[in-house]
Amino acid sequence: MIYCSNPFFQYLSYDKEIQKSIIRVLNSKQYVLGNEVSSFENEFAKFIGTKYSIGVANGTDAIEIGLRSLGIGNGDEVITVSHTANATVSAIESTGANPVLIDIEEDYFTINSDKISKAINKNTKAVICVHLYGQSIDLDKVKSICKKKNIYLIEDVSQAHGALWKGKRLGSFGIFATFSCYPTKNLGAIGDAGIITTNKKFLEKKIKMIREYGWVKKFDSNCFGRNSRLDEIQAAILRIKLKKLDRDNEKRRKIADFYSKNLDEKLLKTPKIKKNSTHVFHQYVCISSNRNKLMSYLKRNGIYAGIHYPRPVHLQPFYLNKYKNKNLAITEKISNKIISLPIYPELKISEVKKIVNIINKF
Ligand SMILES: *Cc1c(COP(=O)(O)O)cnc(C)c1O
Repeated sequence: MIYCSNPFFQYLSYDKEIQKSIIRVLNSKQYVLGNEVSSFENEFAKFIGTKYSIGVANGTDAIEIGLRSLGIGNGDEVITVSHTANATVSAIESTGANPVLIDIEEDYFTINSDKISKAINKNTKAVICVHLYGQSIDLDKVKSICKKKNIYLIEDVSQAHGALWKGKRLGSFGIFATFSCYPTKNLGAIGDAGIITTNKKFLEKKIKMIREYGWVKKFDSNCFGRNSRLDEIQAAILRIKLKKLDRDNEKRRKIADFYSKNLDEKLLKTPKIKKNSTHVFHQYVCISSNRNKLMSYLKRNGIYAGIHYPRPVHLQPFYLNKYKNKNLAITEKISNKIISLPIYPELKISEVKKIVNIINKF
């Protein structure tokens, strides 16, 4: 059986080191916001190329807390896409702000920057750009729109840890950026974890307050706060995986390259890589005009492809009324055709060959 992703195999490739790090935390006597979290925060900031990185409980909280640190909330609007993890949208809602959903580019599955300006009004505070599937949005275009319209650029990098735009790491372009380290992500914990990166000192300070009850120091709350701390054990595990991230992303790229060179283009449209972008293939997403049949056929052959995502946010039951008259034609069109083929660093090229052979006989 071959699954779309496989965090257990990732664990097995670093099992001894991971076990050792867990024992280290157990013996450290410091179980919350200790040395592992602060060391990981320093290492991750250095890796991304920002001044600060702040660990939080998960990727959804990272977005919510980041927005709150900018004072975004009731009555404000935040632009993002409907073709994303529900988390991006629900995090905006958690602050009291209103998500405004716009369409994507058919070729790259990411935000259509031509649609941003029209969605901006006096209540608009920010655009959250989702670097979906491991590839950057067009940061030059979106950055210049945000600058011109005086709104914040925020990056949701939960699917693109380590990816680049013009040689620079994603997560260093916006006012802040957020990462999920859910187990299947390119940088995955063995449980929940999230990170915010920023170059702004005042945001780092505010985010650290919000993630712990609004405390400016122990027992003194100075603003609204929550509990959204990154766990010591998860931080210790992430420190190990961060060291291997570039190498693991390179393995993903090799797999993607093999797929793209060998899949029959008459059966599947393979993903395009943008000029200026270094893709890290969180997912390898193709377009199939016969998607559901292809998926059942693959399943019969022991291969489990995925769909990311089968139903755009604005068509989910909870959102149907709110976004009833939305024109998100490309989002809706591709959601019936996208298929994510298995990809993870431990997937062997011999297995990729097998998958390609099976697909090409479909
Ligand atoms: C995974 C993901 C999130 C949410 O992360 P959690 O850690 O599950 O809260 C947010 N945005 C995107 C694009 C994601 O892929």
